[in-house]
Amino acid sequence: MTQLSVQHNSVNLGQGFPDEEGPVEMKRRAGEAILEHHNQYPPMHGIPELRQAVAKHSAAQSGIDVDWQSETLVTVGATEALASAFMGMLNQGDEVIIFDPQYDAYIPLCVAQGGVPRPVKLNTEDWSVPHAELEAAFSEKTKAILVNSPHNPTGKVFSKQDLQFIADLCQKWNVYAILDEVYEHLVFKGSEHVSLRSLPGMKERCIRIGSAGKTFSLTAWKVGWVTGPPALMKAVASAHQFITFTVASSLQRAVAYGLEKESSFYEGLGSSLQRKREYLQKQLEGVGFRVLPAQGTYFLVADIRPLLKEGEDDVAFCKRLTVDAGVTALPVSAFYASSNPPKHLARLCFCKDDSKLEAASQALRKYF
Ligand code: PMP
Ligand code: GLN
Repeated sequence: MTQLSVQHNSVNLGQGFPDEEGPVEMKRRAGEAILEHHNQYPPMHGIPELRQAVAKHSAAQSGIDVDWQSETLVTVGATEALASAFMGMLNQGDEVIIFDPQYDAYIPLCVAQGGVPRPVKLNTEDWSVPHAELEAAFSEKTKAILVNSPHNPTGKVFSKQDLQFIADLCQKWNVYAILDEVYEHLVFKGSEHVSLRSLPGMKERCIRIGSAGKTFSLTAWKVGWVTGPPALMKAVASAHQFITFTVASSLQRAVAYGLEKESSFYEGLGSSLQRKREYLQKQLEGVGFRVLPAQGTYFLVADIRPLLKEGEDDVAFCKRLTVDAGVTALPVSAFYASSNPPKHLARLCFCKDDSKLEAASQALRKYF
């Protein structure tokens, strides 16, 4: 869709990356670190400053105590963290439960490591956890469940009740949880992000994945981290050793600085994004989209049924929107691994400059 967007010069609300970048002081630190000769292989697990900052962040933000030496690992973004987690934790044929819709990297990374994905569809539109289906997906073959909260593409923030239901099943079936919490700070007023790892009995079963790209709006840096119990961390680190081995030292230094000193940046992110979401929602509703409620992330999902032409599905609609209206959105069916995905939903990303959101609204008003 990005290619099509470039081709047609549309306002691209498809791919999720923010227009407004993170703290300038972090950028300065990265530049200085390069000039100060931090340009050779840093330690395999990450530089101590960043690992200590990650441990502190875990305790301060999520109430989860982490020993920086045995329970942290720095990775090349959350993507490498996911790859290393699957490689380190899975044996051939192990099943991994993953909620549908889902971030597109999960299935290929899981399958590449011999894992067998077991998609479980969240209830369409309110995105509640389907209790019976989830319960039925657990078996002796289940090695892990992947929980992405706040959730891409829906914007759902899993409630404590959702998480408790998942925790009980993990304990019943002796299953690990891989927690993709890259959007942990992108939560709107009135909602709270709770980590599954903070629930009783879950600390030893969960690894948590974070990303400086999302936390500081520096997506090109690809600095991520994993925290978890020592035994699982050993497995993940043994994969990391041969996938990337280490992460740019200059960027690690800058992220360590950011986690220590720039927490106000990500603390303000939720409210600034909420304002953008409300604006885009109003504009979309004004031309006939029906925007579904969400509690976080920088994505919104809209029901496009009122705007579909005869025989058109979400893919065709998103192409038409790009080519004819000049605005790019993503078809939500592309985020499903299971059969019969809903074909009446589109994802739009609103972490964009106000001028871009206004241009998109104008284009939509002109077209519809
Ligand atoms: N998980 C989710 C849910 C994401 O949306 C993204 C960002 N595209 C990632 C992981 C990957 O993060 P990173 O850029 O740090 O690799
Ligand atoms: N996570 C972002 C999204 O879902 C972008 C990542 C990517 O383009 N691969 O849009």
